[in-house]
Amino acid sequence: MQAISVQQPWAFAIARGGKSISNQALPTAYRGPLLIHASMRVDLKACDSPLIRSAGWDPGDPLATIGAVIATADLDEVCSSSLLDRPSCDCGPWAEPGFHHWRLTSVRALPRPIVALGRTSLWEPPAGLMNKVQAMLTPATPNPLH
Ligand SMILES: [Zn+2]
Repeated sequence: MQAISVQQPWAFAIARGGKSISNQALPTAYRGPLLIHASMRVDLKACDSPLIRSAGWDPGDPLATIGAVIATADLDEVCSSSLLDRPSCDCGPWAEPGFHHWRLTSVRALPRPIVALGRTSLWEPPAGLMNKVQAMLTPATPNPLH
């Protein structure tokens, strides 16, 4: 398991708004499960963009927070077309030219954010954080009386 830190409101758009591309300056060989961490920095200009509004951006949503893990996803593929003189690719409206497009699938918003320190780019979440995420995503034991 790895984690990426993403600025709000982009992290929210991944967690809630169907944003399936993370635009990253670097590629990665990593494929597999990924925690989506909202970094401490906010991209204020983006909060008013039509794309972010279309993702249902809501500053009052608990997952609009900063400095916390807010979702899990799978990193399935990295598209580097826009850096290889092929400006168009089929990554959709969230893909920005000049970046590596990390394609995310199976996005799952956490029921509530888990406060955590992030790093730049890809980082390995400590075991304690992983345990909290897993506990949150494990269904509660059904009550045998019902
Ligand atoms: Zn692409």
